[in-house]
Amino acid sequence: MRLVLLGPPGAGKGTQAKQLEEELRIPQIASGDLLRAAVRNKTPLGLEAKRYMDQGTLVPDDLVIKLIEQRLADPDAKKGFILDGFPRTLAQAEALREMLERNHQAIDLVLALVVPDQEIIKRISGRRTCKNCGAMYHTIFDPPRNVGLCNKCNGELYQRDDDAEDTVKMRLEVYDTQTRPLLSYYQDRGLLRRIEGVGSLDDIRKRIKTAIGEGGKQA
Ligand code: AMP
Repeated sequence: MRLVLLGPPGAGKGTQAKQLEEELRIPQIASGDLLRAAVRNKTPLGLEAKRYMDQGTLVPDDLVIKLIEQRLADPDAKKGFILDGFPRTLAQAEALREMLERNHQAIDLVLALVVPDQEIIKRISGRRTCKNCGAMYHTIFDPPRNVGLCNKCNGELYQRDDDAEDTVKMRLEVYDTQTRPLLSYYQDRGLLRRIEGVGSLDDIRKRIKTAIGEGGKQA
């Protein structure tokens, strides 16, 4: 199954994608994680991408498209994947359609998590990420067992620079102008399912499973 998770930053895409990865046994491919790895490894692409990421604006399409194309060519992505954070612009959506079409493939379903802005700011300001494995926690809603340490690998938890409140507001603006148009793009192609992204993690997970189970029915 080839899935896309859409939604503003902090909508819970990463958390739900990790759950789906385990349940469906297909990899989560998160453009933000790939970019952060490139920044950490100081690759030329990472050095170029960093200045956009620090400001909360989008990394240029050609860089992100190249990164995703390489990742989709890995053997584990052959049987399906969950794209998290990509595509974020119409140009990226078209590039994705073309790269899949070259292999006679297509996206099966696009799940759009719907969460109000105020809730997002509350969520992101408490978000903590593991430096080592990328697992995510929330200081109030999903705290780790030991303060500051990852439950899974004991790695150090940190707050991403771009999770600071001002940068979050910029990222929400960028979402509205550049990514929101993808909702109509995928709706027009009959692929979009809107998922209420507020409530317990388990409730949201169940809504997603129902949407996936429904297959072709339009929301
Ligand atoms: P994320 O972890 O998905 O919130 O992404 C963090 C940052 O990485 C974003 O604010 C962008 O600067 C950059 N980024 C991630 N995915 C993309 C994408 N598909 N297109 C452009 N920039 C991206």
